[in-house]
Amino acid sequence: MDNNTLVKRRKVVVVGAGAVGSTFCYALAQSGLAEEVAVIDRNDSLAQGQVLDLVHGQAFFPTVSIRVGNPCDYADAQVVVITAGAAQRPGETRLQLLQKNAAIVRSIVDDIVDQKSAGVILIASNPVDILTRVALKRAGYDRGRVIGSGTVLDSARFRHLLSGHCGVDIHNVHAYILGEHGDSEFAAWSMTHVAGMQIDKYCPICRQCADWAAERCQVEQNVRDSAYHIIEYKGATYFSIGLALVRITEAILRGQRSVLTVSTSLDGEFGLRDVSLSVPTIVSDSGVVKIIESQLPELELAALTASASVLKKALEELDLDA
Ligand code: NAD
Repeated sequence: MDNNTLVKRRKVVVVGAGAVGSTFCYALAQSGLAEEVAVIDRNDSLAQGQVLDLVHGQAFFPTVSIRVGNPCDYADAQVVVITAGAAQRPGETRLQLLQKNAAIVRSIVDDIVDQKSAGVILIASNPVDILTRVALKRAGYDRGRVIGSGTVLDSARFRHLLSGHCGVDIHNVHAYILGEHGDSEFAAWSMTHVAGMQIDKYCPICRQCADWAAERCQVEQNVRDSAYHIIEYKGATYFSIGLALVRITEAILRGQRSVLTVSTSLDGEFGLRDVSLSVPTIVSDSGVVKIIESQLPELELAALTASASVLKKALEELDLDA
């Protein structure tokens, strides 16, 4: 990190104690990665209740201090994870919701900057790519220090589906979803490997399906629709995003240099700039330390460019300087 002396190693602040924030805290506590977790929510009683419920589990997970926090906690946090957001009200447009969530993120980032925090800001609130951009612009930090959960979860969903399809342990499936965390995301098939082999080369060995081309489209569509299905069934998604956030936090707290598809600001990579979206990156103690500019085939590069255009259009609707 650039400001080592001010950062308390393994201290995490979680902003937003709703479904995603509390599930993240629960998974983080069990992981043993953090030494100190401070939970902030504008609904103070919710934060109090979540913390009380969590600390009653202290006998069952590795030693960690969990408490209700306040903006002073940003000062020495190694990671600040933002899961705060407003729910869509009946009759509210997507843009109105976006403006509301952008205002929430800006006010949190202002507090982080006021506290001269040297930590990494990790955004989970949706629309995550837009809000990551809003936070980066507001903070004025190095681009690697303000990142979004991006398609880390979508890539995990992709690996889960491929693992089931090919009948191979998920840990032997390497695969990435790139672009927006949303409808314009796409599967980077050129980077998809099973048992160390590019998926198309693995196919003749696999022989689990009759028509791989059709299956491939179905798998990709299923990844895109995953969140819609879960929301239809139970109203929200939180277990897997909680775990995805733990994975990203782990890479930061341990300085792991992990390859993760977090949402990051591009500055000429892949021919794109002024947009935050997911591409393969190396995540370590100061956030994104490298963007891996892989040689994408024409179709995938076109999909990435199209996804960036969708995000840029949404950004144009927002006043980024507000
Ligand atoms: P939730 O409504 O359960 O929780 C949101 C919490 O944010 C609430 O407790 C609210 O009081 C708090 N909050 C609002 N404004 C705040 C502020 N200014 N400061 C502090 N706290 C504030 O919602 P949730 O289900 O936990 O989802 C949270 C966000 O995460 C949403 O934007 C959701 O779309 C997003 N999400 C992202 C992913 C992903 O993959 N990135 C997955 C699931 C959900």
